[in-house]
Amino acid sequence: MALRSLSAAVKAIALGVTLWPIAQGGCTSDPSELVWISTNSSLPKVVIYSAGGTILSASNYSRLDNVNYGSGVGPTPEQLIGNVSEVLNVAQLAVVRFPASGGSSGLNSSLYLNISQYANRQLCSEDSDIVGAIMFHGTNTLEETAFGVDVSFNCSKPFIATGAMRPDTYVSPDGRSNFFQAVAAAVAPSSRDRGGLIAFNDRLTSIYYSTKLNANTPDTFKALEQGNLGAFLGGQPYYFFGPSYPTGRPYFDVSNTTQLPSVIILYGHQGFDASLMYSAVANGAKGLVVLGPGAAQLSPSARAAATELYKQGIPTIAVARPVTGTGVPGPNPGPVFFSSYVGAEQSRIMLQLAINAGYSLDEIRDLFESPLRDAVYAPSANQEWYYGT
Ligand code: ASP
Repeated sequence: MALRSLSAAVKAIALGVTLWPIAQGGCTSDPSELVWISTNSSLPKVVIYSAGGTILSASNYSRLDNVNYGSGVGPTPEQLIGNVSEVLNVAQLAVVRFPASGGSSGLNSSLYLNISQYANRQLCSEDSDIVGAIMFHGTNTLEETAFGVDVSFNCSKPFIATGAMRPDTYVSPDGRSNFFQAVAAAVAPSSRDRGGLIAFNDRLTSIYYSTKLNANTPDTFKALEQGNLGAFLGGQPYYFFGPSYPTGRPYFDVSNTTQLPSVIILYGHQGFDASLMYSAVANGAKGLVVLGPGAAQLSPSARAAATELYKQGIPTIAVARPVTGTGVPGPNPGPVFFSSYVGAEQSRIMLQLAINAGYSLDEIRDLFESPLRDAVYAPSANQEWYYGT
């Protein structure tokens, strides 16, 4: 296990110098080859999976620029550690970089497949002495990569996603605080057995339900209906509830997966052109996610298209277009599947993983709908009310 020489880095921190020398090597999925940045070898170990984003960005223009900062040279993860040297009082850290240049809008599933494979290997093997992982990611699609890792991560250790809405050069950059808090959450035993979490803006939310709600401000990641699981006080996580997993959260083994089938999201609206559903399939989509107004109410023509495509073996997941709430299936199994509070971009990932795993249409319906069916139709009173028996 490599413990890198710390003298230069510690000296730099003591002098208030903000640059940390770049770690050599470090990009390996073999835990024994990680390069640990440490001032105390008895502290718990946390891996940083770094996929860039604003947290590692800088402005060329001013300390107030949170708009046009893309071209500045941001800190490396190691420099961020130097800038927030307090993290080395709570953990030993190793950095694994994933190429993600040009903003997170251009990323695809290969990033989360990759991160998941690293995370499972490094954290979930029996002899792993790593207590948790954090991920840096551009906020624009953080929820997608994080969801992909969350539903394919095979142990109860904390996986904490974070990022920033302000570049590191901002007069009060949120990334530094988010970084510290993510590490503090990753080492906390109280973070275990909850599924993946997002640490952002002094709050902890479930990756499974979280979405970016504001395009500009640091208070952006929220699980509006499900709420915050905790907050940070003095940099430490305070959980409002004991550990529990999101209802219906599945697990997919992606250890040998490099590519996923195409699934397309379409946005339902008045005058929706249902022929787009056939076009998507003609272009290679193996499944569809359609946002339906209200409680995921597809238009009659979209419903007809979904029924026809179902006969051809293509599943359609209907997701509620309102920001909160869910569509609810009828009592009998139908050709349109409803997503049990899982959002559109997350449903897309879940459907890709299910198709890739060889799920039948009935199994896919079950995957998406059984949490709803168990809640709504299982109670005997409701069987009378909704089955008309
Ligand atoms: N440009 C960033 C991204 O790639 C935005 C951010 O990280 O906040 O998502």
